[in-house]
Amino acid sequence: MPDPATLSLAAAVLGACFGSFLNVVAWRLPRQESLVTPRSHCTHCGTRLRWFENVPLLSWVLLAGRCRTCQRPISVRYWLVEWLSAGLWVAAVWARPTAMGAAADPWLLLLAGWLLLSWLIPLVLIDLDHLWLPEPLCRYGLLLGLLCTGVIGLAQDPASGRLLLLHHLLAAGVGLLGFEAVSGVAERLLGKPALGLGDAKLAALLGAWLGLTGLVLTVVLAVFSGAACGLAGRLSGRLAPGQPFPFGPFLALGGAAVWLLGNRFWLALLPA
Ligand SMILES: [Zn+2]
Repeated sequence: MPDPATLSLAAAVLGACFGSFLNVVAWRLPRQESLVTPRSHCTHCGTRLRWFENVPLLSWVLLAGRCRTCQRPISVRYWLVEWLSAGLWVAAVWARPTAMGAAADPWLLLLAGWLLLSWLIPLVLIDLDHLWLPEPLCRYGLLLGLLCTGVIGLAQDPASGRLLLLHHLLAAGVGLLGFEAVSGVAERLLGKPALGLGDAKLAALLGAWLGLTGLVLTVVLAVFSGAACGLAGRLSGRLAPGQPFPFGPFLALGGAAVWLLGNRFWLALLPA
């Protein structure tokens, strides 16, 4: 592989461009609009963006966060998501994922990391906006996870490849059924829906990518970070009592953390 610094620079540029597209996905998918046509436009006045108004990371700053035609503000979120995507793509270069076996090909692992991290971004944004994890995004993300597992596993050797695929398939099933069971029990106890079924599908997706240990670590991280945010939200008064808040972003955060740092890093933090 080229030296990590060069690769990081390329990853930052590619990641920012991809982040720009993921913004479009997160806006258009819930509105059932095409992801390719029409070209990028201002969501207020509909004016199509010229190329220099659509350069990732730069345009938002150069335009001072306003549409050139109607002068209305362009959300800073687009810009932050481009940075987030660029940052995650760079992080994937330095990542030490353990989910795909010890002898995984570094290039395949990098491509898989970019794919997984990018896939999680629109899921998080849509869950934040709509409290909804779109089923097709979860389903195809799960299938992609199994495909990547199969390809990376079989590239190591056929026997361990088949075993890895079986393991990740099992983890996807455990994620789905485990979350549905917890959701059912919680609904009985609380008398109202507690966890969305979208969370079960996202857990299945993460199981397909991370395997069983990775999935358990992801859920632990998600529960702790979700509880901390929920508590902070209640104490600061931003969250009303009983107000639902999405769990998907915490699952995605946990999944990304497990992919980037690997199982061993997180297992070492657990009290023995
Ligand atoms: Zn405009």
